[in-house]
Amino acid sequence: LKTMEESPGGPSQKKVVAVVGGGLVGALNACFFAKRGFDVELFETREDIRQAKIVRGRSINLALSHRGRQALKHVGMEEKIVSQGIPMHARMIHSLNGKQSPIPYGKKGQYILSVDRANLNKELLTAAETYPNTKLNFDRKLQDWSAETGLMTFVRSDGSEEQVEADLIVGCDGAFSAIRKQFLRRSRFNYSQTYIPHGYMELTMPPINGEFAMKPNYLHIWPRNTFMMIALPNLDKTFTCTLFMPFEEFEKITTGDEVIEFFQKYFPDAIPLIGVDALKRDYFRLPAQAMVSVKCSPYHIGSKCVLMGDAAHAVVPFYGQGMNAGFEDCIVFDEIMEQFNEDFSAVLPEYTRVRVPDDHAIADLAMYNYIEMRAHVNSKWFLFRKHIDNL
Ligand code: FAD
Repeated sequence: LKTMEESPGGPSQKKVVAVVGGGLVGALNACFFAKRGFDVELFETREDIRQAKIVRGRSINLALSHRGRQALKHVGMEEKIVSQGIPMHARMIHSLNGKQSPIPYGKKGQYILSVDRANLNKELLTAAETYPNTKLNFDRKLQDWSAETGLMTFVRSDGSEEQVEADLIVGCDGAFSAIRKQFLRRSRFNYSQTYIPHGYMELTMPPINGEFAMKPNYLHIWPRNTFMMIALPNLDKTFTCTLFMPFEEFEKITTGDEVIEFFQKYFPDAIPLIGVDALKRDYFRLPAQAMVSVKCSPYHIGSKCVLMGDAAHAVVPFYGQGMNAGFEDCIVFDEIMEQFNEDFSAVLPEYTRVRVPDDHAIADLAMYNYIEMRAHVNSKWFLFRKHIDNL
């Protein structure tokens, strides 16, 4: 049993904060708590991704926007991450006939950034590790914990178990959170989970003659009403294309020729850019992945445990705000810590009070944009074009 006294640096005045989950939000959160001087112990079920050959994640790249940047700035990471991202100033709408039309995200000069998920996660883990009061523990899967004592049980891949105690447990263990399981057993905990009928599949668009195959500073969208494809640029001059489609449509396509036929019908301009052979092969490499939306409340138990990131609010990815909202959770919690003098018994309920409505709003907006992006973007643009053509 590990206790406070055995934490790095020996006996400490400061309380022990256990961050469970070393994904994007957990790694950033570790920095926030370390900056406040807590003894931070991060527990992650995976091996250290900085040493791993293959890093499995939920998507290869993602869009970082203002609220996410604000949180990175708070721990001195904004510049570094922004310098490794690719600005996307507008959506680039691909119509069926191959015509491309930009729709800006905001005013001139405003943009979102395409960032590499694995790299961002690695950078955040490295940043957390630079604090002497932080210890990263990999290959530790949370199995169970007690809301009464704060005692957690972790298992390792060799089957061994370890018990750890902490003053505060921060559940950042993602959409299928093991920390959240204890919440579900309590009275007056609201919880809902919805799988949408769509799945997603990632395909790579390689560079052509060493250059991006399409204009790089855009988030490319092929809206086709019931489904769509998007593409975000990567630093190695590839694009990651993500096809969103109902599972039943994915399942209808069973041969390489059918893949090409399907692309010919809906995304003809993308075929030469992805490549016929690659398309035929990569479509069958991995099955389409599911997308879930999770809402719950409250986000805390007493003064012992709090949920943040996808563990508190997994959202569908169509608003590009899942990680950004999770990063904002960290900054909001930090502000409340300041306000309530780090008194967990006051901070945690206030965090729930302030944060639940905003995170639920993000979840609703994401669900709305699920339709907006694949269908409305089409029709509005269509009407707008018609309007311009008529002028
Ligand atoms: P996760 O990234 O899921 O990390 C959870 C971590 O906890 C993992 O490392 C996991 O290994 C670990 N863990 C799990 N269980 C345990 C356990 N029992 N014990 C210990 N550790 C455990 N968001 C955006 O802001 N912009 C985008 O453009 C965007 N695009 C997306 C595209 C797709 C296709 C998808 C699926 C999501 C997208 N998101 C986007 C959402 C974003 O991926 C999530 O919101 C973000 O990953 C949440 O981070 P997290 O740290 O809370 O959870």
